[in-house]
Amino acid sequence: MITPTSGNDGHGWHIPPAEDDAQQIDWRDPQDREQNPRELRWTCERHPTVYTLVAGGGLLHIRRDQREGDDVISAETERMPYAQAERVWTALMTGKAI
Ligand SMILES: [Zn+2]
Repeated sequence: MITPTSGNDGHGWHIPPAEDDAQQIDWRDPQDREQNPRELRWTCERHPTVYTLVAGGGLLHIRRDQREGDDVISAETERMPYAQAERVWTALMTGKAI
């Protein structure tokens, strides 16, 4: 199950530093495929890199927004079934994937 994260004092989840042998996630160009995407989970918006777990069309993906100056560079994972996306998200949130 994907369970709510409590966050930190009103902002999103803080990710620990990635482990040395962290799994490399396949980040791709954004697709904007979902008609009604729903953001289920997100990390702390005060950090330069923010991750968001997005649902739509019965699948999930993770979006990565990296702030560089005034720009935001976005990337996404592939669309995944819930169970697979939950594994990737959990790994990302615990420093086991990057
Ligand atoms: Zn924070």
